[in-house]
Amino acid sequence: MSFESLGLDPALLRAVRDLGWPKPTDIQRDAIPAARDGRDLLACAMTGSGKTAAFLLPVLHRLLDAPTRATRALVLAPTRELAAQVHADLVDLARHTSLRGAAIFGGVGMGPQEQAFRQQVDVVIATPGRLLDHLSQPGRYVDFRALEVLVLDEADRMLDMGFLPDIKRVLAQLPTRRQTLFFSATMPKPIVELSRELLKDPVRINVERVAKPAHGIEQALWPVSEALKADLFIALLRQDVVGNVICFTRTKHRANRLADVLTHAGIPNARIHGNRSQNQRTEALADFKAGRVRVLVATDIVARGIDVEALEHVVNFDVPHLPEDYIHRVGRTARAEATGEAFTLVSPEEEGDLRAIEKAIGRKLDRRTLPGFDYRHVPQERLEIPLAERIAAIRARKAEERARAKAKQERRDAHAKAEADRQAKRGTGRGGPARGAAGSPGGAGASHGAASGPSRPGSAGTAAGGGGRGPRRRGGRGRGPGRPGGPGRP
Ligand code: AMP
Repeated sequence: MSFESLGLDPALLRAVRDLGWPKPTDIQRDAIPAARDGRDLLACAMTGSGKTAAFLLPVLHRLLDAPTRATRALVLAPTRELAAQVHADLVDLARHTSLRGAAIFGGVGMGPQEQAFRQQVDVVIATPGRLLDHLSQPGRYVDFRALEVLVLDEADRMLDMGFLPDIKRVLAQLPTRRQTLFFSATMPKPIVELSRELLKDPVRINVERVAKPAHGIEQALWPVSEALKADLFIALLRQDVVGNVICFTRTKHRANRLADVLTHAGIPNARIHGNRSQNQRTEALADFKAGRVRVLVATDIVARGIDVEALEHVVNFDVPHLPEDYIHRVGRTARAEATGEAFTLVSPEEEGDLRAIEKAIGRKLDRRTLPGFDYRHVPQERLEIPLAERIAAIRARKAEERARAKAKQERRDAHAKAEADRQAKRGTGRGGPARGAAGSPGGAGASHGAASGPSRPGSAGTAAGGGGRGPRRRGGRGRGPGRPGGPGRP
């Protein structure tokens, strides 16, 4: 089947030709005619299946049919990355039309997004939280009265991320007479219930089929002890068993640590996870896409929505807890018709999660070992520092800083006392004890200049901050921990 046979506007067919897509993917073949005819859709589709164009093409076709100046389509997506990706696809597909879209997500300024609403762009692609922020602004500039189509992209993911209440609040502000296209990778019960609420006599696509990663992905396991995962990963990179790669870790701490270990090993990398700002994420992704870094270390939050052309490898540094997450991560490679490899490092402790994944995908995965890699050596560096140890290290550091501050104060007090004694001997000390002694240990009076700044002796946050002088405190512990590295003034 060709794109021409899908009955799409010639301007869209031209854009598809520009993109070099030879023929529609399965989901496009099934979804486009029904959606173009105005039907609701319930589609089970994975990332990599071509699902974005499967909803964008019929939406754009509809908007081209009777152009008006109003926002007529809304796409809801779970993450910033996915919203940005859908917007990028829209720009590609609408390049020969005058249709405009805007991506609306958090972590960046509201101003330009407000402008997009005021200009009534044709298609709004939004994460639910930021969209609600705009909907509650006093200017009431979001106008969905002319809305005709709502798309939910990766609905299961939005529910996993706790967006159901937000989605419902958004829905309450949309016209009820509309076409709804509902895309989800998996169909757990809450998704089925939500789809029942939203859809009218939908055309069902792939719903009965168990979700599987896109074709063309070679999947393999690399069994290894937890302690040697980082070393094995580095060896796989050094021996070019993996090329450019997105590597997923279970937690942000592990992502940070792995990135540090890779940096020590001289392997250019970038990291992307929930604690990174929008700018940092965008920059990391851009560096990776441009080939400036070889490894993009990521947590699951970004697994969906990253579309990197010609991505050769995905490495699961940790076995995902849920089979759906595995399928999604693996879907990062081998987009559409391309091929790629998805490797999973699996420690003996993770075999249980792995079995659930193998059950979900319906087959046992290949197990590989790396020739020449010493599977029994003791690693030089531990990857993960247990939380208790991290806390103990912070406490030890603070105790050390407090001890240093105390010693310094004692030196200062001794100096002040010696000075006072000297002056008393000379007979010039009649005005009572010298000022410098006011805060000597055990003194009850508040010392001069206390309580204005946040700095506290011994607090780690201020030890390195801005020249190190803390205000004097009651009880006479006086100055902060002093200038970093300074020996303390006599
Ligand atoms: P997604 O929409 O996230 O499933 O991603 C599909 C990927 O395949 C994107 O990189 C698209 O540019 C690409 N793609 C979409 N449709 C086709 C097609 N018919 N032929 C070839 N590549 C496609």
